[in-house]
Amino acid sequence: MNEIFEVRHSLPAAKLANQIIREEEEAARLQALESYEILDSAPEKSYDDIARLTAYVCAAPVALISFYDHEHQWVKSRHSTGNFADRALALPPSPLLCERMVQHPGRVMQITDMGLDEGFAALPLLQGSGKLRFYAAMPIYSPSGDILGALTVLDRRARSLAPEQCQALETLSRQIQELLEMRRTLIGLSDANAKLGQQNITDALTGVPNRRAYDQKLTEEYSRAKRTGAPLSMLLIDIDNFKEYNDNFGHPAGDTALQSVARVLMSSLRPYDFLARYGGEEFVIILPSTDLTDAIVVAERVRGLVAGSEFPHRKFTISIGVARLDVDAGARALVQAADNGLYRAKAAGRNKVVVGKLNDTSPAGSATP
Ligand code: GH3
Ligand code: MG
Ligand code: MG
Repeated sequence: MNEIFEVRHSLPAAKLANQIIREEEEAARLQALESYEILDSAPEKSYDDIARLTAYVCAAPVALISFYDHEHQWVKSRHSTGNFADRALALPPSPLLCERMVQHPGRVMQITDMGLDEGFAALPLLQGSGKLRFYAAMPIYSPSGDILGALTVLDRRARSLAPEQCQALETLSRQIQELLEMRRTLIGLSDANAKLGQQNITDALTGVPNRRAYDQKLTEEYSRAKRTGAPLSMLLIDIDNFKEYNDNFGHPAGDTALQSVARVLMSSLRPYDFLARYGGEEFVIILPSTDLTDAIVVAERVRGLVAGSEFPHRKFTISIGVARLDVDAGARALVQAADNGLYRAKAAGRNKVVVGKLNDTSPAGSATP
């Protein structure tokens, strides 16, 4: 069970601690703590096992693994027995504990009787029937020496730990550090995987989704259209006379122009439309829940937007083939129909929007560009 303990800002010790631990050191410590993504994480058996073992080795009714954010102690794992089993413990605030631990670097910090300790005496820990007197904690450090939290034992009687119990606490605290480092490595790996996955579906030149992403999206949207009966349309777009632009201004200028066209296309989309680079100077837009009439409206808007935009050296126009899915004919037929429309748009003089047909036998539709 995870618990969060509130801090009373009025505690003199907390104020004192805040003065001692300089702001920037505290910021670095919190940054280190965040890198483990441990706060608010779900309970985990490996931490619970360490808490249970700690309580057993130290013969204490309560053992905690907690981490210190700016104000709170956040308990990752708690093992408690007797009349502490289901009680929430109002634990000391983080600044007070950090201050004490800084004073005892690398060692177990013991408070034999909290009732006699100036910093701890006012804490609710000491109140009520299940009051606690003894407190011992071994800091959990980051590799750079920041105190992230502590492995703590508490007891209802004033006492101290035997040297071998202190050693066990130190060893178990190091085990927690190992667990934390493993956790951070896994976070790094999953971030790297996510980045790699993103790179795999993004076109490196234009930053829009690539052909692979388009294939996935088309498969998904086809299934959805088949299942729901909603319409699905497609625009196949080809930049007019792009070879001439490359020939006149060079390939690098062509690359920059392709990026600009992609930006203009992207800006023309509704939130649920999907743009991808289909290949070379061709783009595709998938229009979910869009019938043919609306797809033509979108296509005309896109065509007009590109024709009206300024690009380096000269203006651009695009030709667009439009098609609407026939579920029985399948997703491939949708692409073929859009391709037919594109071919006919070129044949009709470019800078045009043309609805494509399947099995087009007209002279203009007999081949693909
Ligand atoms: P049309 O109006 O018939 O489409 O004529 P076009 O010149 O655009 O078509 P064509 O297929 O003859 O030429 C396409 C050109 O697009 C040729 C190719 O070098 C250029 N191209 C394709 N991919 C890239 C790219 O990534 N960068 C640059 N700079 N040019 C590219
Ligand atoms: Mg082309
Ligand atoms: Mg072209």
